[in-house]
Amino acid sequence: MRSLPFFCRGQVVRGFGRGSKQLGIPTANFPEQVVDNLPADVSTGIYYGWASVGSGEVHKMVVSIGWNPYYKNVKKSMQTHIIHTFKEDFYGEILNVAIVGYLRPEKNFDSLESLISAIQGDIEEAKKQLDLPEHLKLKDDNFSQVFKSKIMNGH
Ligand code: ADP
Ligand code: MG
Repeated sequence: MRSLPFFCRGQVVRGFGRGSKQLGIPTANFPEQVVDNLPADVSTGIYYGWASVGSGEVHKMVVSIGWNPYYKNVKKSMQTHIIHTFKEDFYGEILNVAIVGYLRPEKNFDSLESLISAIQGDIEEAKKQLDLPEHLKLKDDNFSQVFKSKIMNGH
């Protein structure tokens, strides 16, 4: 994928309340406009990268870019799970994201258990990949710089 790493930023909005938290895996949603700005060659699927909330610490993350059934699958949605335990929700805050690598395509699962274990597998794989020197370097050298210097999606 030519467009990776891809940096984006936007305000965290409420999702459709499918209860990711009940699965133990909360996923923060970006507004439509942010998702519309994704490069065309970023296909749907599961990716990994780095994320921070506001000016907070940079954490590992997994992000799902998928077809949004709410819009009859003509629009994409983008949901980020930050691999960190937060004390509080951060709706309305600015989420900064660097997508650095691709894990797998979107899939349908026949049970909740198999969905959860797939996501847990994604999280483990993301953690491992992100420990590679090239990814740690991007976090240390580029992440803060990019978000300090650029205005993105109006923020
Ligand atoms: P929604 O349907 O509104 O997306 P979720 O159950 O998926 O609800 O929870 C997502 C919300 O949980 C995020 O918008 C954020 O405010 C909060 N949250 C807390 N911890 C995390 C985390 N580690 N990763 C992503 N979101 C988190
Ligand atoms: Mg969610």
